[in-house]
Amino acid sequence: MTQENSATTPMLKQYISIKGEYPDAILFFRLGDFYEMFYEDAQVASKILDIALTARNKGEAKPVPLCGVPYHACQPYIAKLLAAGKKVAICEQVEDPKLAKGVVRREVVRVVTPGVVLDENVLETAKPNYVASVVKEGEHFYFSALDISTGEFLASPALALNDCFNELAKLNPKEILWEEEIDFFKNNFSETLFTVVSGKNSKPEQILKDYILFTQKQAPAHIREIQLYSANSHLILDEACQKNLELESLLHLLDATQTPMGGRKLRQWLLYSLLDIAAICARQKAVQTLLDDFFLQQSLQKAFSSINDLERIVARVSLGSANARDLAALGGSLQALPGLAGPLEKREGLLGNVEPLTGFEPLAQKIAETLVEAPPLALKEGGLIRAGVNAELDELRQISGSGKSFIATLEEKERRATGISSLKIRFNQVFGYYIEVTHTHREKIPVHYIRKQTLVNAERYITPELKEYEEKVLGAEEKIERIEYALFLQLRDAAKEWGTKIQKAADQIAILDALLSLAGSAQKNRWVCPQMISENRLRIEGGRHPIVEAFSKDRFVPNDIEMDGEKNRFLMITGPNMAGKSTVMRQTALIVILAQMGSFVPAAGAQVGIVDKIFTRVGASDRLSKGESTFMVEMVETAHILKEATPKSLVVVDEVGRGTSTYDGVAIAWAVAEYLHTHVRAKTLFATHYHELIELASACEGMQNFNIAVKEWNDKIVFLHKLVPGGTSRSYGVEVAKLAGLPAEVIVRAKEILADWEHFAKRNRADQLSLFAQNKTETPEPDWIKELKATDINRLTPLQALEFLSYLKSKLD
Ligand code: ATP
Repeated sequence: MTQENSATTPMLKQYISIKGEYPDAILFFRLGDFYEMFYEDAQVASKILDIALTARNKGEAKPVPLCGVPYHACQPYIAKLLAAGKKVAICEQVEDPKLAKGVVRREVVRVVTPGVVLDENVLETAKPNYVASVVKEGEHFYFSALDISTGEFLASPALALNDCFNELAKLNPKEILWEEEIDFFKNNFSETLFTVVSGKNSKPEQILKDYILFTQKQAPAHIREIQLYSANSHLILDEACQKNLELESLLHLLDATQTPMGGRKLRQWLLYSLLDIAAICARQKAVQTLLDDFFLQQSLQKAFSSINDLERIVARVSLGSANARDLAALGGSLQALPGLAGPLEKREGLLGNVEPLTGFEPLAQKIAETLVEAPPLALKEGGLIRAGVNAELDELRQISGSGKSFIATLEEKERRATGISSLKIRFNQVFGYYIEVTHTHREKIPVHYIRKQTLVNAERYITPELKEYEEKVLGAEEKIERIEYALFLQLRDAAKEWGTKIQKAADQIAILDALLSLAGSAQKNRWVCPQMISENRLRIEGGRHPIVEAFSKDRFVPNDIEMDGEKNRFLMITGPNMAGKSTVMRQTALIVILAQMGSFVPAAGAQVGIVDKIFTRVGASDRLSKGESTFMVEMVETAHILKEATPKSLVVVDEVGRGTSTYDGVAIAWAVAEYLHTHVRAKTLFATHYHELIELASACEGMQNFNIAVKEWNDKIVFLHKLVPGGTSRSYGVEVAKLAGLPAEVIVRAKEILADWEHFAKRNRADQLSLFAQNKTETPEPDWIKELKATDINRLTPLQALEFLSYLKSKLD
C-alpha cells in the first residue's frame, strides 16, 4: 500500500490522498505531459504495460516506485490495463500550473473500467459492452445491465438462478456489480471483473446508475429508458446451447450488416429469438419485401456504407469525449439519411417508419459548414474550423499567415543589410524566432543584434523588431487555438441537443440493416421462409446445417425431420460414427432458432411450431477447476434438461451415459430417454451408440427409431448422411478407427474381440431386454398398499394404529 513517510513531498501527499479514494483502480496522476503511477500501482502497471519501473527520491532510504505514460498517447496503455481486468482512474490538473499557489489542484475526472468504457480501441464494433448488476431477493435474482457506449439499459426482475445465469451468459458482461458475493456467478464467469459496491439494498438499476455517476462524474444524457423483460419472453437458450450450437459461428455466417448498430441488432435478434408468431411474421414480411425489391436493397446498401456508429458517437458527445472526427463522422452519416428515407417512403411491409430518419438537415449542415473536411484528432491545436465561420478567427489567421511572409521579407532585408548571404531566421520553442549566423561571419554582426546562444558553428541572435513581430504572430496563434476550441465545443453542445433524435434514427437504421442482412443471407444461401404455426409441430423438408454446408467441400445431403407433440415427439437416432447424427440434430435446432428470430432457414420448406426452450447435451467436457469431472458435467447438464424442459421445448441429446461403465451408461441412457418421452414430453432428438435403446420404441407410443444410412462396399463404408426410419445395431466404430489411422494390428485385434462379444451378447440379449423393458406400472399393487392408502390415520386410536403397524410389518416379512 502507499505509505506516507516524513520524506513525502506535498505532491506525493496529494497523490496518496487521491489514491485513497480509488483503492481498486490504477491512478493515472497527471504530471505535465505524463500520467505517472506510484508505489504498488507502478509495480503492477509497469509489468502489465511492459514499461520501465524507476523510482522517485532514488538515493533515499525509501525510494518511491514510479512509472509513466505520455498523456497524449495514453489510450493503448489504458486498453492494455482494462484487458488485464484493471480499472484506471484518470486524475487531471484542474487549475493552470502557472497560476497555482503551491501544489497544482488535481481531481479524478473519470474512472475507466472494463464494463464502463467509451474508447473505440477497447470496444468491439458489433458487440455491446455491458456492466451488469445482480441482487439476490429471497430465492430470486434481480438483474440489470447497461452499455454506456450505446446507452442501452435492461433489467429483468425475479429470475430463477438458472435464468439469471443464462442472461449473464448471453450478454457476457465485462463487469458485474454486487453488494454481496454470489459465488455461483463468480465461479462461472472467470473472465468477468467483479466489483463489490455498497448500494444499501438498492435495486440493481440504481446500483448501475450510481456506478456510472461515480465513474463519469456526471449523469449522462444518453442513457436510454430502462427496458424491463422477463426470462420467458423469448426463446430460452441456455449457456450449453449457445456453445454447443456454435451460435457465434452462425452469427458470423449470418452477419452481412454494414453498420455497427445493425451488427449489434442482429446479435440481439439471434440471442433473443421471439415467441410471438405475429412479431416473427412481421420480420419475415420485411425480409421478403427487401428480397422482392433489388433497387431498394441497393439504395439501402449505398446509404448504410456511409453511416457510422451513431449510437456510440452520441454516447461520446453526451459525455464530452467526442472529438472533431466524431462530429465529422456524425455529419457525414446524417447526410446519408435522405438517401435512406427517400427510397423507404410509402413502402409497405417494412418494419417501423421513415419519420425518425428525417429532419436532420440543420445539424448536418451546421457540422459541414463549421468543421474542415478532415479535422485533426487534437482539439486544442487549431486546424478544426473552416474559414468564414468566425470573423475574429479569420482576422487572426490573416495575421498569423502574413507572419510567415513577413519573416521571409525580414530575412532578405537582414541579409542585404549585413552582407551575410547565409543568414537565416528560424523558430524554436525555447527562443521563439531568432537569427542564425555562422562563426565565419561573426565580424559582420551589427551592434543591435542581441546574442542568445552559441553553437559549435554558429551564433543565434534576436532583434527588437523580430521580437515585436513574434509577439503579434504567436499571440495570434494562441488566440486562434482558443477560439477554434470554443467553436468546437459550441458545435458539440449543439449536437448533444439532438442526442435522443439521433438514437431513434440509429434504432431504425439498426433494424433495417439487420433485415437487409437477413435478406442477403437468404438470397446468397438459398434459404426459404418458414411457415410459423401455432400447433406443437416441426416439419423440415430438405434441412441443411448452415455452418457445415458453408465449410464443407462435399455436397451437403439435405434431410427431412417431422416431429410433433404426440406420435413423433421422440426420435431415437442410431447409426455409425461419422454418419451425421450430430449434424442433423443441431441443424434442426438451428433452423428453429433462425425461424424464431424472423430469418429464412436452410431448408427446402419448413413448418415451425413455436418452441419455448432449446436444450442440448453434447459431447464430453469437464470443469475440473469447479470440481466437476467429465461424467459429473454430463449428469449435471442432463439433470438440468429433465428439470427445465417442457412439452413445448426442443431437446437435443447427443450421447448420454458415455462417461461411465457400459452397463451404468445403458441404464442411465435408457431411463433418461424414458423420462423425456413419458414425463417431460418434449420434442426430443436423441442420438446414441447404445443400440439396446432401439427396443424402447416398442414400449413408448411417441418414440420413433431413425438411423443414418451407410453402404458397405468392398470392405469399406460409404457415408450417405441420409436420415432413414428404423434402428441400426452397428456403429462401425472399428471402421472409423481404421479411417482415422489406428495401426492395422490394433484394428485386426479389435475386430476379433468385437466378433466374440457380439456372439456372447446375442445369447444374453433376450434376458437383458426383458429386464430393461419391465414397466414399473405393470406390476400389480399389493393389497396391503391399497389398505394403507385407504386408511385415515386421524381416525385411528393409538392402539389401533399400533395393531395396523404390526399388520403391515407382518406383510413385509
Ligand atoms: P459420431 O457418432 O462419431 O459423433 P456423427 O454421426 O454425430 O458422428 P457428425 O459429427 O454429425 O457425425 O458428422 C460427421 C461429419 O460428416 C461432419 O463433420 C460432416 O463433414 C459430415 N456430414 C454430416 N452430415 C452431413 C450431410 N448431411 N451432408 C454432408 N456431409 C455431412
